[in-house]
Amino acid sequence: MRLDGTVRFDLVIIGTGSGNSLLDPRFAGLRVAIVERGTFGGTCLNVGCIPTKMFVHTADLARTPATSGRLGVDETLDGVRWPQIRDRVFGRIDPIAEGGREYRTHHPDNAHVTVFQGTARFTGERTLEVTPNDGSAPRTITAERVVLANGGRVVVPEISGLDEVEYHTSDTVMRLPELPERMVIVGGGFIAAEFAHVFSAYGVQVTVVVRGQRLLRKEDADVSARFTELAKDRWDVRTGRTVARVAKSGTGVEVTLDDGSVLDAGVLLLATGRTPNSDTLDPAAGGVEVDEQGYVVVDEYQRTTAEGVWALGDVCSPYELKHVANHEARVVQHNLLHPDDLVAADHRFVPHAVFTSPQIAGVGLTEAEATERGLRFVTKTQAYGDIAYGWAMEDQTGFAKLIADPATGQLLGAHIIGPQAPTLLQPIIQAMSFGLGVREMARGQYWIHPAMPELIENALLGLELD
Ligand SMILES: Cc1cc2nc3c(=O)[nH]c(=O)nc-3n(C[C@H](O)[C@H](O)[C@H](O)COP(=O)(O)OP(=O)(O)OC[C@H]3O[C@@H](n4cnc5c(N)ncnc54)[C@H](O)[C@@H]3O)c2cc1C
Repeated sequence: MRLDGTVRFDLVIIGTGSGNSLLDPRFAGLRVAIVERGTFGGTCLNVGCIPTKMFVHTADLARTPATSGRLGVDETLDGVRWPQIRDRVFGRIDPIAEGGREYRTHHPDNAHVTVFQGTARFTGERTLEVTPNDGSAPRTITAERVVLANGGRVVVPEISGLDEVEYHTSDTVMRLPELPERMVIVGGGFIAAEFAHVFSAYGVQVTVVVRGQRLLRKEDADVSARFTELAKDRWDVRTGRTVARVAKSGTGVEVTLDDGSVLDAGVLLLATGRTPNSDTLDPAAGGVEVDEQGYVVVDEYQRTTAEGVWALGDVCSPYELKHVANHEARVVQHNLLHPDDLVAADHRFVPHAVFTSPQIAGVGLTEAEATERGLRFVTKTQAYGDIAYGWAMEDQTGFAKLIADPATGQLLGAHIIGPQAPTLLQPIIQAMSFGLGVREMARGQYWIHPAMPELIENALLGLELD
């Protein structure tokens, strides 16, 4: 400690999502501080990927009877025990978060680590003030190296009357005390699509309000159009609409749209977007540049514009995906340990998935992006309904769309909507990442017959290369 009370460390990590995974025994010789203002473990574990997918699995089970009758199997859904579903999810997650905190704070393996429960912000070059959550006096800490891994947060849109009503976001809706009869979901992105599936499968009447004409508008246009069509069959989807105002009602919230229509919502779920937490850091005071969208600017090695300050994950990455945060954490970890042998992050082929129903996954360029770039390309759209496993499932709506360069035979993009889409996409991510050409991929290996990956085999074979 310096005379002015500043505590010196070798390394400060802000955020315990992907940031917490940086530390391994190779850092044992360093004095490390880790600062967390919220729940230990960050977004993915506590309010993101993991709980949502645990709910999605139960939603898929709950929805089976609604879809099995057309195959001659009559099933009924006897009931959905929400408290049990919810408590299974959080009964598993909450102890992991608490166990992680306890391990970092008290375990002898972490004797070199100091955990601060509070909010960190820069007051100077690699110098941070930490305001503890418990109201005690702020502490100043400084370090040779600082890692910003402080993620992003939900954006609550400005809506007239919102202060007067109870509303939910993805941070809170998974802990509802009971299921409502009706839910209005505002937003058309992946979080809205996943929760619409989950809650409607449990029997909640879902209305989705989206500003644009399509849901999941960042997907390839064919996927987004198909999903919007299917969503309209299943939910009350109000495209091209915004919320004009909300007010308290007897059953919850009265939601008035810009066309004057009024919706009655037991629960109002706002899922209109997220923003990086860079503002919480007072980045300018630390010499850390931020772009117009609020992302911390990093180079290919995940270095920020401030000497010795690194960043990873949602605070600097517009992908806002956990596998990207994990990859960037591995890059930062390597670069901290090997300052003379830096590695670059690989963002060439970042895949994503939407765990709604049907599932969706994509990697690489959409057709519109390929066109915009003036590329010469070919596409092949292969329906699930035209492969053997698709017959077995009687799938009539799913497809895989591949985009390839006809001259080189390299894949440029792949987009799948249908059962197990993320799993089916994985071999394509592998092919793109390792430069495997379409012909080699299609014919250089066996494809298990009659398994679902035949969807990809047939799509590859259908691409008309030069
Ligand atoms: C509902 C939902 C579903 C999702 N589903 C998926 C999915 O299926 N697949 C996928 O890949 N991604 C998914 N994501 C995205 C994924 O969760 C994030 O990309 C990922 O968790 C980001 O990790 P991170 O380490 O960058 O940040 P985080 O995990 O958010 O960690 C940042 C931490 O920093 C703390 N913090 C912030 N500011 C400060 C400060 N100034 N001082 C101290 N601490 C601070 C926060 O409290 C937080 O704990 C989902 C997200 C949501 C919200």
